[in-house]
Amino acid sequence: MAKGKVLVVGAGIGGLCTAWGLVRRGFAVEVFEQGSIPNPRSSSYDEHRITRHAYGDFAGYARLMPEAFRVYDELFAEIGATHFDPLPLLVIQREEIGWFTKSMGSMDELAVPYRDVPVRELAGRYPMLDPEGVTAAFECEGAGVLFPIRILTDLVVHLAGRGVVFHPNTKVEAVDPERGALTVGAQVHAGDAVVVAAGAWAGRLVPSLAGLAVPSRQIVLYVAPPPGLHAAWRDAPAIIDLGERSGTYTLPPRPGTRLKVGDHHFTRLGDPDDDRVATEVDTVRLLAAARLAYRDFDRYAVLERKVCYYTVTEDEGFLVEPIGAAGYLQSACSGHGFKLAALIGDGLARAISGEMRKDDLPGWAAGKAALAA
Ligand SMILES: Cc1cc2nc3c(=O)[nH]c(=O)nc-3n(C[C@H](O)[C@H](O)[C@H](O)COP(=O)(O)OP(=O)(O)OC[C@H]3O[C@@H](n4cnc5c(N)ncnc54)[C@H](O)[C@@H]3O)c2cc1C
Repeated sequence: MAKGKVLVVGAGIGGLCTAWGLVRRGFAVEVFEQGSIPNPRSSSYDEHRITRHAYGDFAGYARLMPEAFRVYDELFAEIGATHFDPLPLLVIQREEIGWFTKSMGSMDELAVPYRDVPVRELAGRYPMLDPEGVTAAFECEGAGVLFPIRILTDLVVHLAGRGVVFHPNTKVEAVDPERGALTVGAQVHAGDAVVVAAGAWAGRLVPSLAGLAVPSRQIVLYVAPPPGLHAAWRDAPAIIDLGERSGTYTLPPRPGTRLKVGDHHFTRLGDPDDDRVATEVDTVRLLAAARLAYRDFDRYAVLERKVCYYTVTEDEGFLVEPIGAAGYLQSACSGHGFKLAALIGDGLARAISGEMRKDDLPGWAAGKAALAA
């Protein structure tokens, strides 16, 4: 006998991990998705994502990371595949900003190994880098690459095998968080609770989000390095390049994935229904930042200019909270939610099943309050 029925809006990593947390606690779950499942237009749909303990100003999220890794391992064990590749993370600093030193502080606290990389050694160790303007660098462990498309795909198959009902190409027009119901066309679907995990579209179903979690048009480039740098990228770490003129994150090519350079500067602009092909204007800032960071970047083949959308909050904290007697918002993004999605989704399921106090959920998910042991 199911513990109750929960309706989840959105089949991104947020909605699917919440569904996973619920079904493993005995709930019946139905997932509603406006696109295909998984949806290539979602924030979650991509070849790779960085996971890391280095978290700069967000010491609270750094402290959640050991658990985040552990819960992903549980998820991988249940879906029968580990879509994670441990890789060092190279953090490059140009201007003196707190992110660099605060990250080292968190890693000291969490006993995650890291080592300084003298700037004069950068070019020798990482031939693709242009060390001009770099003031400091460190390489850390406790990081790596997650493979979202593979995770989403295996998770959907796993959840369907555990009885989760999927409604693809089904756009939810309204939710009733007091009654745990949602509306699709003229039809009302009733549950015991409803979860809105609608990514950059969440504000359309939860009006109170207006101005709090802002959709942001973000740009990534998939590229292929020139012949002379191919081998260097094959053995490269993941790279975060901090600074006003840089602000990029780079995922090296791994089996089945391309080299990706992404722009971490938030645009806080655009409409998540927009086309997903980036324009020349979209890529100006990112191309300039990539030329700054990487030698001969103009000799790289650009394979794809992609637009992605996510929501950004003022403090980059997640919004995961009750929104009514039988409703919950799951908006964990600001460009850093994938690595924590299994933990946050399972945590929301704990709150729905009463294992965690509902009132503790927002502070915990915002990385601001540890849970009582
Ligand atoms: C370019 C880019 C790079 C990133 N890099 C990293 C990284 O390196 N590390 C990291 O940890 N995080 C990273 N992130 C963030 C991470 O990907 C997101 O936090 C995460 O994917 C958000 O998942 P979600 O499920 O909340 O949203 P989504 O994946 O967008 O899922 C929401 C789903 O809801 C559906 N939906 C919306 N409205 C409705 C409706 N009315 N009815 C039915 N369905 C609806 C949408 O179609 C969508 O499929 C990155 C994000 C982007 C875009």
